[in-house]
Amino acid sequence: MLFDLQSEAVTKKIFKKFDTIIVGAGAAGITTAITLEKSGKSVALIEGGGLEYSEESQNIYKGNVNGDPYFDLDVTRLRYLGGSTNHWGGWCRPFEKIDFQRNYLGEQYEWPIKFEEVDQYKNEACSILEIETNLSSNLMLIPMLSLLSFNFHLL
Ligand SMILES: Cc1cc2nc3c(=O)[nH]c(=O)nc-3n(C[C@H](O)[C@H](O)[C@H](O)COP(=O)(O)OP(=O)(O)OC[C@H]3O[C@@H](n4cnc5c(N)ncnc54)[C@H](O)[C@@H]3O)c2cc1C
Repeated sequence: MLFDLQSEAVTKKIFKKFDTIIVGAGAAGITTAITLEKSGKSVALIEGGGLEYSEESQNIYKGNVNGDPYFDLDVTRLRYLGGSTNHWGGWCRPFEKIDFQRNYLGEQYEWPIKFEEVDQYKNEACSILEIETNLSSNLMLIPMLSLLSFNFHLL
C-alpha cells in the first residue's frame, strides 16, 4: 500500500509499528523490502521522491564532487520511486577480490567488508535478476533491459 506523507489525511493512519523500516526505494531498498516481506516481516519502505521524476525532488540531489573526477551528483542519480535504478543499463558483473582491495589508491578506498561476505549472495542476486549464476567475470546484460534505451537525465 502506498501513502503520500505530504498528505495530511494519511499521516495519522500509517503510524504503526513495523519490524523494519527501509529508507530509499531503489533496487537495493525494494529488493530488501520484498525479501523481508516474504519472510513474514512487516516493512515500511520510505522514499524521498514521488512516483514520477520532478525537478523539485531532483534538485535535492545537487552537490559537489570532491576528489574523484566524476559526473555531477544530480546527473548520475535519480530521486524518485525506483531511484537511480531507473536509468540502470542492465549490465551485471560480479565483484572480484580486487574490488575490495583498493587501499593502494588511498585509505578511503578500503572497504569495511570482505569479498567473501558479498560473494556468498551472488547466486541469490542472479536469481532475482533472472540471469545465469555461472557469470565468472564476464559482463551479462539482462535481456529485457537491453531492449530499453538509457533514460539518462542530463539536466
Ligand atoms: C546512466 C547509468 C547507467 C547505469 N547502468 C548500470 C548497469 O548497467 N549496471 C550496473 O550494475 N549499474 C549501473 N548503474 C549504476 C546503478 O544504476 C546504481 O548503482 C543502482 O541503481 C543503485 O541502486 P540503489 O538501490 O543502491 O540506489 P538508488 O537506485 O539510487 O536508490 C536510492 C533511493 O533512495 C531515495 N533516497 C535518497 N535519499 C533519501 C532520503 N534521505 N530519504 C528517503 N529516500 C531517499 C532516492 O530517491 C532513491 O529512490 C548505472 C548508473 C547510471 C547513472
